[in-house]
Amino acid sequence: MITGKNYIGNSLSANGNKTFTTFNPQTNTENASVFTEATAEEINQAAILANQAFQSYSKKSGKEKAAFLRAIADEIEALGEALIEVYTSESGLPAGRAMGERGRTVGQLRAFALHVEEGSWVEASIDTAQPERQPIPKVDLRKMNVPLGPIVVFGASNFPLAFSTAGGDTAAALAAGCPVIVKSHPMHAGTGELVASAVLKAAEKTGMPNGVFSNLNSSGIEVGQQLVQHPAVKGVGFTGSIRGGRALFDLAAQRPEPIPVFAEMGSINPVVLLPEALNTGAASWATTYAGSITLGAGQFCTNPGLLLGIKGEGLDQFGQTLAEEIVKVTPTCMLHPNIYGAYEAGKERAVSQEGLEVIAAYNDEVSANYGRQIVSKVAGKTFLENPTLHHEVFGPFSLLVECENESQLEEIITKLEGQLTGTIIASETEIAANSGIVNALQNRVGRIIFNGVPTGVEVCPSMLHGGPYPASTDARFTAVGVDSIKRWVRPFSFQAWPDNLLPEELRNENPLEILRNINGIKTTDKL
Ligand code: NAP
Repeated sequence: MITGKNYIGNSLSANGNKTFTTFNPQTNTENASVFTEATAEEINQAAILANQAFQSYSKKSGKEKAAFLRAIADEIEALGEALIEVYTSESGLPAGRAMGERGRTVGQLRAFALHVEEGSWVEASIDTAQPERQPIPKVDLRKMNVPLGPIVVFGASNFPLAFSTAGGDTAAALAAGCPVIVKSHPMHAGTGELVASAVLKAAEKTGMPNGVFSNLNSSGIEVGQQLVQHPAVKGVGFTGSIRGGRALFDLAAQRPEPIPVFAEMGSINPVVLLPEALNTGAASWATTYAGSITLGAGQFCTNPGLLLGIKGEGLDQFGQTLAEEIVKVTPTCMLHPNIYGAYEAGKERAVSQEGLEVIAAYNDEVSANYGRQIVSKVAGKTFLENPTLHHEVFGPFSLLVECENESQLEEIITKLEGQLTGTIIASETEIAANSGIVNALQNRVGRIIFNGVPTGVEVCPSMLHGGPYPASTDARFTAVGVDSIKRWVRPFSFQAWPDNLLPEELRNENPLEILRNINGIKTTDKL
């Protein structure tokens, strides 16, 4: 049931007087539930409670945390059709997408459960003492990853489940041993509340401390700002706009005690189209890209917003087929009138730039909030000279850049901002012959794709979802896959600590049978 209240640990609270509703973009009407924004006092209570919970939650074993994560997944599934209905009514996304995203969300939770149950993720390292060493004896040192403390997670507008309340950031932080306070996304506060109720049921069933999880409503930036500034908070996870992510990053850096903000932000995901591949496959790649650009109304962080090619017949053919195919795609509903409005404004801004030619635009009448796709073309020189063309237009938009030659293409790639992904459509011989272009792309992105599309982010340990700024605030980490747990830990060393007082991960007997680094050698052996 949706109460519209804040979940401060196990308690429901609605002391504030600022209320808001969510919006159904399909019907273009407000939804019925009314949500109460968290007050400064409620924010403080959630942070203090999270800090208290940290004392015991940080000591929970991998098995205990795994049971909690699995119980969350089960409780989310038990929400059944009610969750799907609220999700679709708050996002305009179809039920199929809701179910797919729910599957991904519970899959992530269960993957983290396995990860912490197995236990080697703590990267235990042991250097045994050498009392006889000359000229000075060597002490016994043992290191492992320990949780950071309470983490604030900002729900993402474009993934109401998989990157929100119990999404990747939350699953990773809970797996690490960190309590989580979610700043619920105002566009899907009801979806957020249902998932929050599932997390709290799971916490109760598996004996987790009160305060291990809180969910706060907000319809403005103040709640998030206060949370990021609260002294008890030790880290932040964010997915959204560059403006929002950067503002929170700056705020966190200005605290008396600065804390890390792992923000995954905008990206235009350049696609490099090399001539040989286009000579044989221009039409087929263009058809594939018409699908990728319009997938989910273009509201994916990996949407291919920039297509880079070299002048010639192959690129002409690619542009022509893309123009023909993309207008055949029926537009779909965007997440919210604000996102739709931002798309329309971004599209207008882009196409009004000098030197831009619209090569395809869906112009038929559509329902309110439906995002109509558009593809424009521009010369390489114009693109290089105009930074506005380098900005993300969040929606079914893409820009085809016609470069004079390979060296201009390489220059453009070199001057791009950091990106989540880069794709190369090429033959293998072209890859080998264009190492400058390939290296330039590798330097600008977190993931490089050969002959494929950037949309579709597999959740697995080898995925890297992040990239040089502004794709993310820290290119050393991924926001997807079990390695994302590394954002919420710090390495910690014990020196000459008695064996029986050490965490199990570092004891001589290796009771958890995890992989450890002992005197420089990786092994599961005991000492
Ligand atoms: P957003 O504006 O970045 O907001 C995300 C969250 O951060 C919201 O909960 C918002 O709070 C909060 N926030 C934003 N600015 C803040 C600030 N200065 N201080 C504190 N908190 C702040 O993103 P959105 O609302 O989800 O979508 C808007 C635009 O973001 C889209 O049109 C798109 O351009 C971009 N976006 C990009 C991606 C991507 O993956 N590339 C994903 C999603 C969105 P309130 O809502 O409560 O104000």
